[in-house]
Amino acid sequence: MNLQSILPSRAPAFADLALGPLLGKPVMAYYYVTYKCNARCVFCNIPDGPMDVLPVSQYTSTEGTIEHFDILKKLGVRLIDFTGGEPLLRKDIGTLLRAAKDRGFRTQMTTNCTLYPRRAQELRGLIDILNFSLCSPGPEPHNTLRRDNSYDSVIESLGIARRLGEPYQIIFVLTNDNADLLPEMIELCREKQCILKIQPEWEYFGNAGIAIEQLQKAKDIAMQKNVYVNWGELRVFKAGGNQIEDRSCKAGNAVLAISPDGYLLYPCYHKIAQRIKFDWNIVDFFETEKWKEMRDKAGKFKFCDDCSNLCYIHPSFYYKLDRNFVLSAMADIRYVKERRRIERERKRSLTSEGVVMTSEGVVIAAE
Ligand code: SF4
Ligand code: SF4
Repeated sequence: MNLQSILPSRAPAFADLALGPLLGKPVMAYYYVTYKCNARCVFCNIPDGPMDVLPVSQYTSTEGTIEHFDILKKLGVRLIDFTGGEPLLRKDIGTLLRAAKDRGFRTQMTTNCTLYPRRAQELRGLIDILNFSLCSPGPEPHNTLRRDNSYDSVIESLGIARRLGEPYQIIFVLTNDNADLLPEMIELCREKQCILKIQPEWEYFGNAGIAIEQLQKAKDIAMQKNVYVNWGELRVFKAGGNQIEDRSCKAGNAVLAISPDGYLLYPCYHKIAQRIKFDWNIVDFFETEKWKEMRDKAGKFKFCDDCSNLCYIHPSFYYKLDRNFVLSAMADIRYVKERRRIERERKRSLTSEGVVMTSEGVVIAAE
């Protein structure tokens, strides 16, 4: 039986997280569709960083990218995170998302929302987890942290996505500057009928990361309505990140990262020990002892010590039965339930506003 066929078509990633390890396959891929971004967030080095020297002319074509999806399918990947940079800078993003959906992938995207209002119709129904980045309940410190004026775009995008029946949620990068704003953020998410996903800022791009004492503020609100905090992630943060003697990160096993010019970035985007051309040869390569050794080494490099990159660590929890697995599963099950509750609430209120959702998930204005 095709396990995916028994899951709701737009189920959250948790279902995939649980199935990937059972099947012994990498559960997800971060597909970097671009390294370009129209924002300059203080906690990010992707635009203007060491990777952004790659000319756009060397990016994989639309057809080539779709072929990569076929390869990912063959490797057992279930969820593609369309990432960047700002993924909506890719003109062909709608075509790519549709191709991924046609191949049975679940899709995830995080956007800074500057381009979402003008592209929302084109993307409707193509994204299973739509993350809007927001750093504060009001324009500040969001606009300062993002070094742009995107606050208004995020608020506008929330309204558009709601009326389109899209599965949106807010990603809140928890920093030392905005941790005190959590109560107001929760209020905003309740008003906008979405999940507040809290992502502690990790120590990376030369920044200090979030102070441990601020994490308690996230833990304190973890059981509140509309909130998603992953207890496994908090535990790893408190322990100082990934420890190479007992790794939490299983990049390569759980997660693959593909560059805009079509290379597998091993072990991860942030620390590249090797770039491997992502073509059909990789299917055979993944069966070799060499790749097994490489998978065993991921998370154990010297540079992996103290890394708290949750993009790789969170999916890795499901590949090792330990306390982090249990804590993460508890948080993710709660997330799924909360998300369903909010979706029901949203549908009810849309109906009362005279907006009707069809069985295809399309929203039409009532006569
Ligand atoms: S919007 Fe995203 S990719 Fe762009 S600078 Fe901010 S965090 Fe980085
Ligand atoms: S521990 Fe960090 S640096 Fe090492 S592979 Fe994982 S995400 Fe990359």
